Amino acid sequence: MANLTGKSIIGFQPGGEGDPTVFGVNPVTGELLQPGYAAVSEAELNRAVELAADAFEVFGKTSGTDKAAFLRKIADNIEAIGDDLARLAPQETGLPEGRIRMETGRTCGQLRLFASVAEEGTWVDARIDLADPERVPVPKPDVRSMERPLGPVAVFCASNFPLAFSVAGGDTASALAAGCPIVVKAHHSHPGTAELVGQAVTAAVRDCGLPEGTFSLVYGPGRETGSALVRHPAIKAAGFTGSRAGGQALMKLAADRPEPIPFYAEMSSINPVFILPGALAERSEQLAAGLHGSMTLGVGQFCTNPGLTILDSTTDIEPFVAKLAELVGGSSGATMLNPGISAAYDSGAGALGGNDAVEAVALGQTGDGQCQAGAALFRTSAEAFLSDESLSAELFGPSTLMVTHDGADKMLALAKSLEGQLTATVHGTAADLEANCELLEVLETKVGRVVINAFPTGVEVCHAMVHGGPFPATSDGRSTSVGTRAIHRFTRLVCYQGFPDALLPVELRESNPLGIRRLVDGEPH
Ligand code: NAP
Repeated sequence: MANLTGKSIIGFQPGGEGDPTVFGVNPVTGELLQPGYAAVSEAELNRAVELAADAFEVFGKTSGTDKAAFLRKIADNIEAIGDDLARLAPQETGLPEGRIRMETGRTCGQLRLFASVAEEGTWVDARIDLADPERVPVPKPDVRSMERPLGPVAVFCASNFPLAFSVAGGDTASALAAGCPIVVKAHHSHPGTAELVGQAVTAAVRDCGLPEGTFSLVYGPGRETGSALVRHPAIKAAGFTGSRAGGQALMKLAADRPEPIPFYAEMSSINPVFILPGALAERSEQLAAGLHGSMTLGVGQFCTNPGLTILDSTTDIEPFVAKLAELVGGSSGATMLNPGISAAYDSGAGALGGNDAVEAVALGQTGDGQCQAGAALFRTSAEAFLSDESLSAELFGPSTLMVTHDGADKMLALAKSLEGQLTATVHGTAADLEANCELLEVLETKVGRVVINAFPTGVEVCHAMVHGGPFPATSDGRSTSVGTRAIHRFTRLVCYQGFPDALLPVELRESNPLGIRRLVDGEPH
């Protein structure tokens, strides 16, 4: 096992000697895992951010080729410690080794995808409007613009993705590809995993000859360390995945700064699944099996977990309900990520089951040990759902609430009542879909991704993916945290007017030395 030091990483230096306050906890046994991590002092946090600000002067201008080499080096270094991660991360998170290996692969794939984007270079969206000195009544100036990196970015690790949305996860890969140094706040749920990956990133910074402050990793409580990071004047943006309460508290801090900054939080989503009558009549068993697989995947701890299932009770829904109940009732228990998330699931499921308007249709088994979650299937009416806001709150875990309605009008009312979501799914035959175009139109206004005849879990990392959505799914529905478009969260547009060619960024020079695609006088070149 690689050496865990129990220290933050401040540029190339370890953090100080304070008493350890952040410990990983084995969620099965409750055992505190060693080493513990001391929270960074105020001086250390300031040093990490100041180093990042210094690093930005160089890293912000680093070529796409060099950024790509850096991102690939991080991926290589993470792969080299794959066995250590596969041993440690399951102890800290309760996630099985296979999931950790898969997530390690996804993490390295994301880093390499962003490497290819940085290297190819077209992402900067270069636009050139050539000068026309002869234009009357006034000459037209030479105007060129492109995306530039924002500056140092704070990244909050996610509890539910110890690799793919943590130290070297999607926020980090996209910020680094844009040219932004990062300061990562570790999550208390997997501090050792964070340090292992942090060491891999730091080694890549050194190997690639990049400035010391390109990367730092800090430990400490969110309300102190995390808040101070977001408040620091040299931080220019932040990425976050977690709870609605935590995300909103930090959003507010980011907006209330003397210089407000963009804060990209991915928070809460119940990912409604609409099952239309034709599809239900055609393949109810298959739909029940698919939904069960999706809602229990990763113990339901995915942001795209289908927490709401909407069914038309004027058709025969009972075979579907019976099959899903059988599958849920027969599900074995599984370990949740940490005691806090497990307690939140237990109390949320208890409250739902105790609601007079809700029936607990089936409850799965719970296993031995701590932090065990049993799958749960609940049922209520459209009327109850529409009149009780608490029924639309996210229950983070392996459950879904079935809501039955009496036809298309009520189904549309349900869709219109929803808050912003990451995804909405519709199962339907061709005839169902044709007859329910309005549903698709409503859903498009509510979510970042509409899925037809599949399930929302299993987010493809690709160029076209949108993993975002209107509030409260995210803090800014114009963006995505998965896929290559995520890079634009950490950039801003800069326009260069009347510049001599040699002073322009290479992407905007006359000879187009990088050979990127550009818009010249409105035409693609
Ligand atoms: P969290 O409590 O929001 O924590 C995420 C990060 O934000 C942690 O680093 C935390 O610091 C920090 N933080 C939390 N509240 C803060 C505040 N008021 N001010 C400053 N920083 C703050 O999320 P979590 O621990 O990952 O999970 C808790 C719940 O969030 C889950 O039960 C679930 O409901 C929800 N969740 C949703 C998703 C999703 O994708 N929809 C994903 C994960 C979690 P500490 O280290 O001090 O805790």
